[in-house]
Amino acid sequence: MMQLLLKTGREKSLKRRHPWIFSGAVERVSGKPQRGDTVEVRDAHGKTLARAAYSPDSQIRARVWTFEPAEEVDAAFFRQRLMQALALREALPAAKHGNALRLVHAESDGLPGLVVDRYAHALVVQFLAAGVERWREPILDALVELTGCSAIYERSDSETRKLEGLEARAGFVRGNRAASRCPIIEYGLNFKVDVEQGQKTGFFLDQRENRQQVRALAGGREVLDGFCYTGGFAINALAGGATRIVAVESSAPSLEVARENLAANALDASRVEFVHADAFTHLRALRDRAAQFDLVVLDPPKFAPTAAQAKNAARAYKDINLLALKLLRPGGLLATFSCSGGVDAALFQSIVAGAALDAGVRAKIVERYSAATIRWRSNSRRPTI
Ligand code: SAH
Repeated sequence: MMQLLLKTGREKSLKRRHPWIFSGAVERVSGKPQRGDTVEVRDAHGKTLARAAYSPDSQIRARVWTFEPAEEVDAAFFRQRLMQALALREALPAAKHGNALRLVHAESDGLPGLVVDRYAHALVVQFLAAGVERWREPILDALVELTGCSAIYERSDSETRKLEGLEARAGFVRGNRAASRCPIIEYGLNFKVDVEQGQKTGFFLDQRENRQQVRALAGGREVLDGFCYTGGFAINALAGGATRIVAVESSAPSLEVARENLAANALDASRVEFVHADAFTHLRALRDRAAQFDLVVLDPPKFAPTAAQAKNAARAYKDINLLALKLLRPGGLLATFSCSGGVDAALFQSIVAGAALDAGVRAKIVERYSAATIRWRSNSRRPTI
């Protein structure tokens, strides 16, 4: 087998089960592996530590498939990993309350670079690293077999593919090629997911449980949803008994789906006003009109994908949170989120605290929310939810 030899001392993170090997840790590669080939990873003493997928163009030069040095990486290996991922999802409480779930979350499921979301009878897959790209066909076959889903749409159009030397690819790869808007149910509410044109894989499944929190808090309140996408929080607020909802979104196609989603539920649609606008501009206009709300939801896009953009992102987070806090009645609630990899929880808290100071309000953290995905703890093999 082809081998990747690590520099002295560079096996430490691997021993802590971190699955990435950066280019700077590599002493030598033998046997001329091609993109996506499986290599044996050895420490400087020649001891085999893992088997990994080789990616010659990426700074992440290899991603570990298995820490068992003798485990075979073949079609059966992927079928087994997929079975484990699916079994975990079947056990989730959310699986009983809807038919849309992230089934495979890449490294967290021991399948680096592979994302699979289920929307009712359709799957959306992303192959985001050289290793999973190599095993694409056996993975697609196993997914059809194990999930019984009739259609698979591929959304391998993320920028991260470029870093792996891979071209973007999108389109139906299995099953019915016509159904690009999938109707799903999430905790009793109907949504349509545009798997072709929608953002990411079409729906923000990571906010599933937080949408329930907002639904539980919305009763009798006037609600503002600053970045509503296809109406996730807004429609949940309505279902939770909000008296009025203003939902702002800058993307016209997303708003079109939001309107369809509102109509697809037996709720009083007249309470919802969708606004096609930039949230910063619109919230400022609302403030100038002295508008007031009891609950504001802010779920903006990623302002800082990496730490390099943290400074500009901090300004944007502060601006929007400051506006939201000014729009709140005394005793009102702000549900504010960040999905920026470059802004950690501590920084986000200090940004929002700064916004509260500038807004002249006394704010208090009532609850902390997180993403609704399963992650593997780095130091154990037990899943946390
Ligand atoms: N809360 C939503 C997901 C929000 S994703 C849900 O539960 O489904 C962030 C949304 O903000 C995207 O739809 C994006 O189009 C929109 N957006 C990005 N910049 C914006 C801006 N300046 N003003 C308003 N909306 C914006």
